[in-house]
Amino acid sequence: MVLQENIAAISTPSGVGGVAIIRISGENPLAILSQMFRPACGIAVERFQPFRMYTGTILAEGFEDHGMAVFFRSPKSYTGENVVEIHCHGGVAIQRGVLERCLALGCRLATRGEFTRRAFLNGKLSLSSSEGLIDMIHAESRAGVAAGYALYREKLYEQIESIRKDLTFALAQIDVQIDYPEEGVEEVTAEETHSALQKAITALTALAATYRSGSMIKNGVKVALCGRPNTGKSSLLNALLGREKAIVTEIAGTTRDVVEGDTELGGVTFRFSDTAGIRESEDRVEKLGVDRSKKVAENADILLFLTETPMGEEDAELIALATACKAAGEKVIVVVNKSDLGGAEQTATTYKNAFDTVLTLSAKTGEGLQALKTVLTEYAASGKADSELAYLTERRHFDVIEEARLMLQNALSGVGILPIDLLAADLTEAWKKLGEITGATAPEEVIDEIFDKFCVGK
Ligand code: GDP
Repeated sequence: MVLQENIAAISTPSGVGGVAIIRISGENPLAILSQMFRPACGIAVERFQPFRMYTGTILAEGFEDHGMAVFFRSPKSYTGENVVEIHCHGGVAIQRGVLERCLALGCRLATRGEFTRRAFLNGKLSLSSSEGLIDMIHAESRAGVAAGYALYREKLYEQIESIRKDLTFALAQIDVQIDYPEEGVEEVTAEETHSALQKAITALTALAATYRSGSMIKNGVKVALCGRPNTGKSSLLNALLGREKAIVTEIAGTTRDVVEGDTELGGVTFRFSDTAGIRESEDRVEKLGVDRSKKVAENADILLFLTETPMGEEDAELIALATACKAAGEKVIVVVNKSDLGGAEQTATTYKNAFDTVLTLSAKTGEGLQALKTVLTEYAASGKADSELAYLTERRHFDVIEEARLMLQNALSGVGILPIDLLAADLTEAWKKLGEITGATAPEEVIDEIFDKFCVGK
């Protein structure tokens, strides 16, 4: 490990709080601390035992504070370097004064994500683990935190490394064939290469399939409520959110623009958009609202199609929209509302041939609401059947996997046909590509982009 200059930053969020933490990492943070901390126990700072908290006086720039300090000895620290943490009182001027003192004593202000970048460079965590950490910090739901944590704890890393290992083995087999091209070896090798490639492709395909739900878990599930005016979209939105968000009136066309609201169901964030009622309209403002509604519906993960009448002419435009969304891979749920008025079950049967999920409910009484919530949460979780296996939450990972999969598919179609050194080239490319996920082979720009997403102090 190359010893680096001391960097410092406030690691807790800026603002007022009980405690703030200023972190120093580098070659010799104890030398800095010794000039700005007087331990109450009288021991010299240079003789601090690692991983132990000491109380004392913090000598900040222009004032003193009473606080604590701890030393983490390399390599057992967050960055892998020697690290010191100073815990002071959480006032804005206090933390700034402590940081300024660190800088005056020769530390450089850390850049965004520099602590984590050093941790990555020192082999403390992989690139994907760093991304998991960012996801955890930014997560708004329990499921989002769990997804980030799985990535942080190297679940994806393990799976990718195991696929890369299989590819290394296949490459070794090909090498044997190149080095000892005697009779017989070729055939056996071709077969083994074929099955190794197939195994890797299957594993990558399974991983790629988890991206849709993984990204919903990370970013929230987008649900569009569509239906003719007065079918109860606003009422249903309010019932789902458990609060009054949208205006409910008997006058058709009241919701002219998109009203949005978030709620957590089963630990996952759902982002609902109550759209303007979709129908033919001459009113210009309403027409604009309808056009926007269609866009919202097309960009959603789930389309809630609200109705109170049997499948037929009145809903022709909506049925076309729902059918198109379904064809594009979106989940469509038909909700026959106002079940409290009777006849909803019969109405529902008219939709069952065309759509997989048809529910009846009453936004007014709440009857059937739980069943809808269950369908929503089950859909969000459907892609990640086994919580022990990795699932994809990052677009970057998905793209890398798709590219690697194509390279391997290319190689597979050439087994026994193409010269083996060409096969080896394809395999090596795929092996390198996959290394971009973990950081084993990631280009500098990719690494920069990832750490730039961090805040200063992490
Ligand atoms: P939107 O135009 O689709 O947003 O519909 P609203 O939510 O504004 O509701 C239109 C009217 O239908 C209002 O008078 C609501 O009180 C009524 N409504 C909505 N849901 C129900 C329901 O489940 N049962 C009954 N009986 N009335 C409902």
